Amino acid sequence: MSRVDYLSQYRERTPRSIELYQRSANVMPGGISHRYRHIAPHPFFMKAGSGSRIWDVDGNEYIDLWMGHFALILGHKPAVFKDAFEEIAQAGVHWGLPHEYQIQFGELLQEIVPCAEKLIFGVSGTEATMYAVRLARAFTRKSTVLKVAGGWHGGNSELVWAVNSPFDKPESAGLTPGIDAYTKIIRYNDPESTLRTIHSAKHDLACVIIEPVLGGGGFIPADPSYLELLREETRKLGALLIFDEVITGCRLSLGGAQEAYGIKPDLATMGKVLGGGANLGVIAGRGDVLALCDPTLKREKGSGVVVGGGTFSCSPMSMILGYRTVQYLKTHSGDVYSTIDRRGQRLREGTIAALKRHGIPAGAFGLGSLCGLYLPRNAAVAVRNPEEMEKLADVARVEQEFKIRMINHGVFTAHGGGAVSTAHSEEDIERIIAAVEAVAIEMAT
Ligand code: PMP
Repeated sequence: MSRVDYLSQYRERTPRSIELYQRSANVMPGGISHRYRHIAPHPFFMKAGSGSRIWDVDGNEYIDLWMGHFALILGHKPAVFKDAFEEIAQAGVHWGLPHEYQIQFGELLQEIVPCAEKLIFGVSGTEATMYAVRLARAFTRKSTVLKVAGGWHGGNSELVWAVNSPFDKPESAGLTPGIDAYTKIIRYNDPESTLRTIHSAKHDLACVIIEPVLGGGGFIPADPSYLELLREETRKLGALLIFDEVITGCRLSLGGAQEAYGIKPDLATMGKVLGGGANLGVIAGRGDVLALCDPTLKREKGSGVVVGGGTFSCSPMSMILGYRTVQYLKTHSGDVYSTIDRRGQRLREGTIAALKRHGIPAGAFGLGSLCGLYLPRNAAVAVRNPEEMEKLADVARVEQEFKIRMINHGVFTAHGGGAVSTAHSEEDIERIIAAVEAVAIEMAT
């Protein structure tokens, strides 16, 4: 046991958060509205954010790597929103009728996202992946969906399966009975076992849905050859390939992972970065697939696809904030991506080196601006997927002890790292690495 009692330290730093947490527990189950926002023994409660920094209700300042679920690529309260709220106040937050902002934003996405012949706006990533799978099933007239063990596509009942270990136990009660009969699991970056599963499902295969960088697994990137294999096999079998780019969209590059990897999926789901912090889900892809949900085409009932979009889809607020964000990224893409990727790389290397200097074996995942940490139980080993991670690394230590110790040193991480934004300066990255060093010293003693 380390000499620094990090939990007591955390409690001492956050008395007002403890009070709010107790109050919140009377309102929401477990005091929280999103399970990943819970931190044991209690989450800290936020007061404000600006640039790369956030402040909690006890006045503690943190360098933020969580960045609003990795959405805030321009940092908190970016300058590009300076007069946006004035424009929204003039327009109105929500209309529920078509308008030019949505066309303008859609045209921009068509221009930059390689697969986006057509697209639909919704309000969340969960909704986007649910509809993408429905479209794939309707288009192929097949039922089986393959997803990766450890892949998180939101909470929808089709896909909330095999997200956390043990991967063969239901993730939740209350799901459609027999979900595992039609949602089958493949092992990330493992071509042999994946090919076997694809071939055993080939007569009924509607789609493979996959994150090009596995968010829940701590940002494990797919091997390019693995994605190429999925592209080739789905094409051969007439099944669709769906890239879930809710995290990677407009982050790995302006056109997302599909541009960075040079592999075009049939459909892509996006959200997070594209919304600039407002609620957004996007389903983009082949025109012939998306035509299935064209409500102006006359069809027999039940042969078209219902895509709701949602009461709040295309709100002027989300379209204005999303458009401003993506337009900024486009105009500054030469500088933005090289800068955040370089800082991401420095963060990965600096984090591993700081831990290793104090005898703690460590590895880092990630690509570009995404950084995740893993702590192998023995010597440093390569980890390709969540199953290997579970076997070889101490996941809980990263998500609990390392996280709280980093909070005590003024850095808020996710998966031991997080998402670098344009607001993170070189000095911020060096300060984070210095905090890792301090935490490594505590953990080693
Ligand atoms: N897909 C991926 C890859 C995600 O990371 C998430 C959110 N973490 C979702 C889907 C769900 O998106 P939302 O939280 O907007 O519903």
